[in-house]
Amino acid sequence: MLSYLHGFHAGNHADVLKHGVLTLLIETLTAKPKPLVYLDSHAGAGLYDLNGEQAAKTGEFVDGIGRLWPMRHDLPELAGYFDSIATLNPNGGHARYPGSPELARRLLRPNDRLILMELHKTEVQGLRAALDGDPRVHIHHRNGFEGLPALLPPKPARGLALIDPPYEVKTDYAEVARCLAAAHARWPTGVYAIWYPRLGLDRDQSETLLQGLLDSVPRVLVAELSVRAQTRDFGMHGSGMALVNPPWQFDERLKTLLPQLAAALTLDGTGASGWRVAWREATA
Ligand code: SAM
Repeated sequence: MLSYLHGFHAGNHADVLKHGVLTLLIETLTAKPKPLVYLDSHAGAGLYDLNGEQAAKTGEFVDGIGRLWPMRHDLPELAGYFDSIATLNPNGGHARYPGSPELARRLLRPNDRLILMELHKTEVQGLRAALDGDPRVHIHHRNGFEGLPALLPPKPARGLALIDPPYEVKTDYAEVARCLAAAHARWPTGVYAIWYPRLGLDRDQSETLLQGLLDSVPRVLVAELSVRAQTRDFGMHGSGMALVNPPWQFDERLKTLLPQLAAALTLDGTGASGWRVAWREATA
């Protein structure tokens, strides 16, 4: 049974990191004229209403896009992300918030393609309602862990895959590693972006996840953002993006972006929250 609904979390600090990095990745890849394919194994509903019941119930977006939006003019690095939100909200604000498929759609070009997978019945209906009219978009109601490798290599064989499961069940961590191994075997030149949560000490599985990824690829670029210090039991204090085959010098771009996000989104002011951008290598 799938219980996770992204509407409760849309626009939170983890979405800001994920969608900010996704924006920079797509902008870098589209700087070259060749067409590309964007794949999203866990696409969600595509578009979220931050004035709606789900977002209001948790209020998570308040400390995410809610904090960042007033600072958008000081963050030119993320102009593409902010412009996408602004276009969705012609009367101002950020209440209509783009999920990864909608954001990608806005950043991609007429000759690029999007392949989106979503397993939850009502979420895939929302996704269809939000994006179906776009001829570049192909939506699959299926398990993204098996669907992503099965659909590879894409045509054209240039592109980016986002792997963004809920991690509500512990098995998701091992599934992600298995999914990357199978996908990378079929499409070794693809760019992969894997989102993961940073949880309280007793529950944090991020190191296990990174080691699992390094079983099939020689190195990953890791970008992590924490908005408060890690404690033993507090839930999600931060999150990370693990990138396989990122564009050349992408680490330098992240080293510009991440401190800005950390300064904007920190909640404890103790300096214990923060950011890191680092290459992790497989050990022989
Ligand atoms: N990528 C989206 C974004 O950034 O806007 C958010 C995705 S949300 C974190 C995870 C989604 O994965 C949920 O919509 C959930 O229904 C879906 N899901 C859970 N298990 C899945 C599976 N095995 N295959 C495909 N989708 C799945």
